[in-house]
Amino acid sequence: MSTEILSLPQKGRTKKEILAEMRAARDHDIKWEQGRVFGLVYHISDEIDNLLKEAFTMFFAENGLNPTAFPSLRKFETEVVAMTAALLGGDQNVCGNITTGGTESLLMAVKTARDWSRVHRPGIREPEMVLPLSAHPAFDKAAEYFGVRAVHVPVRADFRADVEAMRAAITPNTILMAGSAPSYPHGVVDPIRELAAIAQEHGLLFHTDSCVGGFMLPFVRKLGYPVPDFDFSVPGVTSMSADLHKFGYAAKPASVILYRTPELRRCQMFVYIDWPGGIYPSPTMTGSRAGGPVAAAWALMNYLGEEGYLHITDTVMKTAKYLQEGIKAIPGLTVLGDPEMSVFAIASRKMDVNEIADELELRGWHLDRQHFPACLHMTVNYMHAAVADEFLDDLAAAAGVVRKPSLRKTASKFLIASANFLTRILPEKWVSALMSKVSSLLGGGGGLPSRLAPIYGLIGTLPNRGDLKELVLDLLDSLTR
Ligand SMILES: *Cc1c(COP(=O)(O)O)cnc(C)c1O
Repeated sequence: MSTEILSLPQKGRTKKEILAEMRAARDHDIKWEQGRVFGLVYHISDEIDNLLKEAFTMFFAENGLNPTAFPSLRKFETEVVAMTAALLGGDQNVCGNITTGGTESLLMAVKTARDWSRVHRPGIREPEMVLPLSAHPAFDKAAEYFGVRAVHVPVRADFRADVEAMRAAITPNTILMAGSAPSYPHGVVDPIRELAAIAQEHGLLFHTDSCVGGFMLPFVRKLGYPVPDFDFSVPGVTSMSADLHKFGYAAKPASVILYRTPELRRCQMFVYIDWPGGIYPSPTMTGSRAGGPVAAAWALMNYLGEEGYLHITDTVMKTAKYLQEGIKAIPGLTVLGDPEMSVFAIASRKMDVNEIADELELRGWHLDRQHFPACLHMTVNYMHAAVADEFLDDLAAAAGVVRKPSLRKTASKFLIASANFLTRILPEKWVSALMSKVSSLLGGGGGLPSRLAPIYGLIGTLPNRGDLKELVLDLLDSLTR
């Protein structure tokens, strides 16, 4: 944390100066415009960005907190929700809201389930939800926020939810089950039909998390690729989430949360009637609600139409298949499971994928690292069509480097082995302190180190997951004031 005191400048500066400083601040940002990042940004074209920006700024000042003051925003939200519901097999009863993202949508789904069960199953004091291990951490955030215990069930060898194990995890306290369509880590669709049937059998609510797939899988299926049932056409699915700001290609932050019935959605809403400031209704987590993202989502859905989404999805799927084939053709590399869309993970039996990620980083590519098992995450989208060959060339080169033994690798292997040994003879706290020292040394000066493989290796040796959580909290602390 910085020790100098930064206060509001005494005098304002010029617009020119400020914008120049902001432009310069982007210098070290990831070059998403060049398709160098897999995830985070879902860009189609400048033409579409311009439409989004125009719609966004047109409603830049408006506030969705009071929909009666802005019937425009109310119309946009209602229509975006309706179009999303229709896309996801919903009938006239399906209703919902626009939220600030997948996380808020999932927070709302869990809060709704908790409050629904308070009314309909009042005997439950310590509510639980049964989740596949691959479910998004936003469920765990919701668990922490709302006092619902998250029960994680290991997935099958194909990375999909294990139906019988999920059934076995149900207790008299279970209020909610969930599955993903698809899961973020490996991009595979859980057996939603089977899971939702179990939920229905037990009188439980069931959420399909289609945050990443909600605006893609319907088009993937229309294009003729196999997609298992996952939406409201499946009996027992009571709520769904779909992120506008992912494969909906809308502006951040925007997602849709949907419920099968208005009765269910009522449990999401908040009303306080005793405030001196007046009666205060609020449908979702936030108070003030930005108009821009709602307007931009409405504009884009109407601009693209089904035809536009199909065209984009076709390109994305062809690119994803091309990349997957290319990856599998590189000796030692593979794609995990049998992913339905353009989200998947690269793994290797023989090579350390963290070293491959480091080599790719040096070549300007940013891939997220996953564990259990170690793999690299890919969210392929429209931008990647133009860079697929370049990426495959660099990936092959990276694998070539990693395959060869080197002094650096031997050194980091030695460090990992010695950390392993030290944890057996020293108190854990000392070892973690030592390891963060070592990792900062390995990384060289300032900021995040360029080679992370040794650090991931060291972290893997931490005997206590609690230590790891503290280390990450330290990092989070140090990132912003
Ligand atoms: C991205 C994602 C989320 C969380 O969405 P945010 O918009 O990042 O809050 C939840 N579930 C899945 C499956 C996701 O891919």
